[in-house]
Amino acid sequence: MIIQGTCHPPLSAERLVAELELIPDGSVTLRCGEHTGEWAMDALTFSEPLGSLPAQITFPDGWLFKAAENQMLADWIQAHGTKRSLWIYRLERHWLAIVASLVFLIVLGAGTYRYGIPAASHILARMLPQAVPEYIGETVLETLDEYLFAPSQLDEQEQWQIRDRFALLQDNWPPLPFEPKIVFRSWQKGPNAFALSDGTIVVTDSLVALATTPAELESVLLHEVGHLYHQHVMEAVVQSALLSVSVALLTGENSGLADNLTGAGVFIASSGYSRDAEREADSFAAEQMLKQYGTTEPMAAMFHRFMEHGSDSELPEWLQSHPDLNQRIEAVSALEQ
Ligand SMILES: [Zn+2]
Repeated sequence: MIIQGTCHPPLSAERLVAELELIPDGSVTLRCGEHTGEWAMDALTFSEPLGSLPAQITFPDGWLFKAAENQMLADWIQAHGTKRSLWIYRLERHWLAIVASLVFLIVLGAGTYRYGIPAASHILARMLPQAVPEYIGETVLETLDEYLFAPSQLDEQEQWQIRDRFALLQDNWPPLPFEPKIVFRSWQKGPNAFALSDGTIVVTDSLVALATTPAELESVLLHEVGHLYHQHVMEAVVQSALLSVSVALLTGENSGLADNLTGAGVFIASSGYSRDAEREADSFAAEQMLKQYGTTEPMAAMFHRFMEHGSDSELPEWLQSHPDLNQRIEAVSALEQ
């Protein structure tokens, strides 16, 4: 089949009358003035007709052919089912760009998730007005009281003894964003302590029972103070909020965004922080134990005691996010030398 049209020599605006011979074996001959070129169909670059502009074929040697009759050329390409039908061609031309864009988006997403959001959370957590962590802390405690906790069975006197001893420790530590206050609750899941974003530290009755000396109990309380000092609670809440917002932006699903904040607070309080956060809280506690007692031994003893007592499935907050408890005990003990 022969298609009439015009051609341009390589990099030239000169226009010549041309004909294109399409041969059923898949080869193509271009005759254009003096020039004749024969090519396999696969070697050609087709562009689709754009509006009223003619379909265009670019040859590997730079010659350009424009069909006078678009439909004929398009029909021929379709009928002969060349390996490079147009959509495959387009995909081939762009696949690298598509893959590169996807990889870029994945790397960007992972980078934002791993570094951007934690960094933003670190800053935002410190910029929020005091009322925000206060509100979240109160709401989280109300929620925990409603679903998880029961009133403490400890007698008032014992509660005050623990608070009084805890107050004596405060002289040693740097200024905190919130004044810590200890509340006691009964919790069927056993020994545990949680710091909330407003400075509240919830201590379970069974944690008090597990400690054999005041110093052992205080080592756990100091770990929670470490979380407060480093603002881990609000950082984690803000981080969770940023993730929720990101997901909402990406998916358009934004119902329950506000609920997520309180939910995040509850989740964080009960499930612990990152390993880095645990290490920071540990070293804060270890440092304070050294100042107060000259030893981190009660802290290590408390770790051991829990290992003997607890089941793996219900690790309390201050033991969580740390697969190797022995390593943690070593790190704390190493501070003594
Ligand atoms: Zn912790």
